[in-house]
Amino acid sequence: MAERRKWKWEENAAELNEVERLKLKKDGLDVIQDIYRWAKSGYESIPEEDFTRLKWAGIYQQRPKDGHFMMRVRIPSGVLDTRQVRVLAELAREYGRGLIDVTTRQSVQYHWLRIEQIPDIFRRLEEVGLHPYEACGDCPRNIVGNPLAGIDPHELIDTRPIVEELERTFLLNREFSNLPRKYKISVSSNVYNAANAQIHDLAFTPAVKEIGGKEAVGFHVWVGGGLSSRPHMAKQLDLFVLPEQVVEVAVGVTRVFRDYGYRKKRHRARLKFLVADWGAEKFLEVLETYIGPYPSRGKDRLVGWNAGYFTGVHPQKQKGYFYVGLNVPMGRTSAEEFFQLADLVDEYGSGSVRTVNTQNLIIPDVPEERLDDLLAESLLQRLTPYPKPFVGHAVSCTGIQFCNLALTETKGLMRRVVEYLDEQVELDTPIRLHINGCPNSCGQQQIADIGLMGGKMKTVDGMIEAYTVSVGGHLGEGATFNTPLKGRVPADRVAPVLKELILFYKEHREPEEPFW
Ligand code: SF4
Repeated sequence: MAERRKWKWEENAAELNEVERLKLKKDGLDVIQDIYRWAKSGYESIPEEDFTRLKWAGIYQQRPKDGHFMMRVRIPSGVLDTRQVRVLAELAREYGRGLIDVTTRQSVQYHWLRIEQIPDIFRRLEEVGLHPYEACGDCPRNIVGNPLAGIDPHELIDTRPIVEELERTFLLNREFSNLPRKYKISVSSNVYNAANAQIHDLAFTPAVKEIGGKEAVGFHVWVGGGLSSRPHMAKQLDLFVLPEQVVEVAVGVTRVFRDYGYRKKRHRARLKFLVADWGAEKFLEVLETYIGPYPSRGKDRLVGWNAGYFTGVHPQKQKGYFYVGLNVPMGRTSAEEFFQLADLVDEYGSGSVRTVNTQNLIIPDVPEERLDDLLAESLLQRLTPYPKPFVGHAVSCTGIQFCNLALTETKGLMRRVVEYLDEQVELDTPIRLHINGCPNSCGQQQIADIGLMGGKMKTVDGMIEAYTVSVGGHLGEGATFNTPLKGRVPADRVAPVLKELILFYKEHREPEEPFW
């Protein structure tokens, strides 16, 4: 076996946190080969410390740690074809009790998997070019992108080739498999910030600049965003990047994070803490020692924020073609629905499907004359392009049903809440509701109009599930995280309390004033 590269932080090994020491002992990616052995020897044979490393294979232990696993599958920029959709459906049906969750980073998630099934799942995903590797762990996660890339009337360029190149560069690359913490990249040329740039460790957004007497189309670069319990907005660097330079810059930023990121305290290890301490200027200075000098910022082309909502029927940039955005309530769908989706896409579309960071789906490339027939199909009665306002703008993390970190149940509560609000409250402008089952932020509650964060509350009858309610988050002009209101709301009071809150807003708002 070739000798492993020595990292500069190994010199101060005594100062490293426990996970860092574990990663030095054995790289997270090494666990992928071990899985084939454990698939034969069984769950009980997995060493305790390797449960942490399993994340590099895209696998987490499922609550209550009884031998079942959750697996996340990367879908760069949310671009799938129907062959891949069918394989995802087959695997869910055979191994995942038919369940498929679409996540807030355009991936899909399985539950109920057993270790002996994993090698077959790896093989069948790889056969269609899909990977669970590094969908979790301290490494570059799935690359979020514009779900409309290539068909978007509001993009400057098609970003699919850039995302593919980034995926080839980072996936399973041992130069980047031991970062201080998880690392999230987004690339979008959509002028409405479809990929939520400000909440990523590294983001590329549309920009133009006069170069050699011509207007060049490219990107601005943001670093140091992230949610979790201490959210930070990314900062923009004074840098303009051409499409062909994105990979070089992304590699440079990742090397800076790898070499300078904090490895002492796990809760201060995300890139956002380094960027907050250094500031954008110093970060750029250090970055330039890796990538050399780059032109300064050009003109920003972001003009607003669409919050990642594409439900309904909309024209594409290709004349005569439309995309149909489907609502997947709380991101939960099934093998059966994925099979039906693949059939519909083959019949009405071009074989392409997109996943969206609001946990929804898109069918692209539908000719105008086929729209009515597609809209009449039974799948579109459940995953409707025309959902009621609250169910159509609800996002939910996994919660206590499967997640070991959860303090509360989420998807079921959110379903009850939005069904109640859709019955009780009339809205002319949608209000986005997000829910997390703990202070981590897989449900991205801080950017919601109304965010719910799960916790426990002491009552005379004992501990109960309760929620902190926060209001006013958004990534539009003057982007800001939402503000927590005082106190916590018991789970069974969330629906009526939100109704009162929304009625108060309706009564007191200025005409056209958004919730944020
Ligand atoms: Fe689990 Fe918390 Fe993430 Fe929800 S936000 S999936 S409860 S870690």
